[in-house]
Amino acid sequence: MASKIMSINAGSSSLKFQLFEMPEEVLLVKGLFERIGLEDEMIFSYSIKDAKVKTSVKGKSHEEAINFLLHFLLERKVLTSLDELSGVGHRVAHGGEDFKTSSLVDSCALQKIKDLGKLAPLHNPVNVVGIEALQKDLPDCPQVAVFDTSFHQTMEAKNYVYPLPYRFYEEDSVRRYGFHGTSHQFVAAEAANYLEKPIESMKIISCHLGNGASICGIKDGKSVITSMGFTPLAGLMMGTRCGDIDPSIIPFLQNEKNLSASDMDKLMNAESGFKGVTDFSSDTRDIISEAEKGNERAKLALDMFAGRVKQTIGAYAAELDGVDVLIFTAGIGENSAVIREMICQDLTFFGIAIDQDQNQKNSRRISSAASSVEVLVVETNEELMIVRDTFHLI
Ligand code: ADP
Repeated sequence: MASKIMSINAGSSSLKFQLFEMPEEVLLVKGLFERIGLEDEMIFSYSIKDAKVKTSVKGKSHEEAINFLLHFLLERKVLTSLDELSGVGHRVAHGGEDFKTSSLVDSCALQKIKDLGKLAPLHNPVNVVGIEALQKDLPDCPQVAVFDTSFHQTMEAKNYVYPLPYRFYEEDSVRRYGFHGTSHQFVAAEAANYLEKPIESMKIISCHLGNGASICGIKDGKSVITSMGFTPLAGLMMGTRCGDIDPSIIPFLQNEKNLSASDMDKLMNAESGFKGVTDFSSDTRDIISEAEKGNERAKLALDMFAGRVKQTIGAYAAELDGVDVLIFTAGIGENSAVIREMICQDLTFFGIAIDQDQNQKNSRRISSAASSVEVLVVETNEELMIVRDTFHLI
């Protein structure tokens, strides 16, 4: 039977939604509330059929945004009654070790998500606000939590325990969790589908390269290793995050510059990466354009980024004992032929070679005939993955 299922992704001052008809996976409407809580009005943008609209609506809380959204869906006749909504899937940042898969939200699951706010203080509490607001308006509609971390719960201890005193893992849950799990899982499944091969027979390296960036090594459809860690700060250099650095730099700078722990955290999360190195932008489009004009710092930043991605691909090929499919996804991965080319240069040792023409066109398959590894560009769709999981669970 056809079901209408909505995905909700609540951020600190934003709320994104998409409503699908399942199992056909037809997108009925999608939209975004921004600037929630900053003023008395918020910005509401949506696209429905071919129309794209941006407007402002009264209200300054996630609860008011959700109230408005439910009225909007009825008014625009996307739903004839709220009972038509069969389920809502929420993106939740951190599932810790408690959630190895997506989960129906009952009072016990909700309490665990709240408790995990200790590990994701900027994200889980606001995800909970989204869940509770919908529970209030639609008490009988099943809600599902889909976690950024769940897909990586298949990692073995050797890949998630940090070489710190073991008690910090046992007492404080300090370990590698990894993020972007929904995206890595989605694009790996899409790649298997496209290649018409069972995912269980493939060694996949998935590169999610957006403003946030991570790489995942996938074997038999399971995450074996991923570059983000205890938090999304680890691994690759990103838009504004530094990724892996020598940990001793942290106390050194704190002492030298008289910075507090939270100053340092902000510096590494919001002022580093592409933004920190170039000193002018976190957006690779600006950086590529400046590099083309001869800006040396922009060139350096691109070389650093591509180098780290390449080194991680090499490390993960070693971890997986080979690679059959290399996937590029997210803003940079899906759109930047220049960066994909930089990453794939001199990877012939691994059997990776790309076709210039297909790469320029952002084609689905960009590997050349000589490449023994399939190199694919796959558009990620975390919302669809959330809705699929919700549909299956309800
Ligand atoms: P987020 O992590 O915020 O979800 P996205 O996956 O949407 O990020 O990626 C956004 C980033 O993708 C932008 O900041 C920009 O750096 C990059 N990007 C988008 N289009 C292009 C392009 N054509 N060329 C290079 N970089 C691009």
